[in-house]
Amino acid sequence: MRIDVVTLFPEMFQGFLEGSLLGAAQKAGLLDIRLSNIRDFATGVHRQVDDRPYGGGPGMLLMPGPVVDCVESVLADAPASQPAHVAMLTPAGRPLTQQVAEELASRERLVLLCGRYEGFDQRVCDTLAADQISIGDYVLSGGEVAAMVVIDAVARLLPGVLGDEQSAVDDSFSGTDRLVEGPQYTRPREFRGLRVPDVLLSGDHGQIAAWRHKQALAATSRRTSPTTGQPTQTS
Ligand code: SAM
Repeated sequence: MRIDVVTLFPEMFQGFLEGSLLGAAQKAGLLDIRLSNIRDFATGVHRQVDDRPYGGGPGMLLMPGPVVDCVESVLADAPASQPAHVAMLTPAGRPLTQQVAEELASRERLVLLCGRYEGFDQRVCDTLAADQISIGDYVLSGGEVAAMVVIDAVARLLPGVLGDEQSAVDDSFSGTDRLVEGPQYTRPREFRGLRVPDVLLSGDHGQIAAWRHKQALAATSRRTSPTTGQPTQTS
């Protein structure tokens, strides 16, 4: 999979992309992540990329020209047989869920647009017919951290990226039931008086699976949706 990130701050991604899972995935040729700087497409002596909003209001908006030119140059740099899905990071976007991450991971090519300041001129979205993704109901100062969240969630779903393919299926919000994971334990058997549940030491795989499912159901019903305050759906 190829992911292009369109940003004013490509340097923010350096450590993140070199990290263990993503670094290894890129070295193994499973993932190709490229960074493009919107500033390279600015015109004029000041290489301006932002301006005041029409109608007044605080802050500055990203001008459509440099952003659209940058995305179009990224899109031109790939075979027509590899169509790209363009997604803007914005608080107004559809919420990033595991299902959305799975949908994005099924694409061959993704272009992620990181906003800054007060965000994008609307014509960026209109011109590019871009998908819009939010990583939650709060406001970040830029789309870079949001793009990193999307990349991380997507990359671990790509075949071969995780050491054990089964772990992505067993994870919270995954598989057919989309339950969150219940409690997990490792050694020692007892820690500060807290013992590992006997069933996990029983060696009875049927009972262990039944216990885990029950715990997952309980953990899922204890969660509440951050947006509705209601318990989350269990299927
Ligand atoms: N004025 C915008 C608003 O009220 O919706 C907020 C702009 S924010 C300060 C700057 C940039 O950060 C946005 O253009 C977007 O790219 C990114 N951003 C902020 N919060 C985000 C979120 N929850 N999800 C995705 N991107 C976000």
